[in-house]
Amino acid sequence: MSLRPILRYGDRGLHGTAADVTTFDDTLQRLIDDMIETMYAAPGVGLAATQVGVPLRVFVIDLSVGRNASELIVMVNPSFVSREGTQLEEEGCLSAPGFNATVVRPRHAVVKGLDRHGDEQTIEGHDLLARAFQHEMDHLDGVVFIDRLRGIKRDMIVRKIQKLKKTGKW
Ligand SMILES: [Zn+2]
Repeated sequence: MSLRPILRYGDRGLHGTAADVTTFDDTLQRLIDDMIETMYAAPGVGLAATQVGVPLRVFVIDLSVGRNASELIVMVNPSFVSREGTQLEEEGCLSAPGFNATVVRPRHAVVKGLDRHGDEQTIEGHDLLARAFQHEMDHLDGVVFIDRLRGIKRDMIVRKIQKLKKTGKW
């Protein structure tokens, strides 16, 4: 296993749409192991393959950040079965360190997809897990939480990032 560099807002790879996984080979297993290790090291509660520059529909989530093995979720080729309600909470992203904003997300979400071996799985998420599902699903379509913001708040974050980039700090 090894840590992979996490792309940041503005990096091309982060803003493209990922493709379905078609082969469950060693390369995929290595990718998933690396993503889990990278997520824990950050530390973060979720990571999508697009964030490490791999355009495949894979994400990992662990709300316990490695403290409870049963909370680790590995999702391949996910899709929403249902999304209900709304929640408004502050959110951040490993691809936009130092920035947080309130984002509208579903309160409940059911996601189905495949596990790391290609077997079907359906997982129901409430509150933080529903939020994490939507956040990671967005990544697979090239959408970062900043893109979900409107108006002044979004402009302010984007301007700050551009400034950091110019000075080589991003
Ligand atoms: Zn993110």
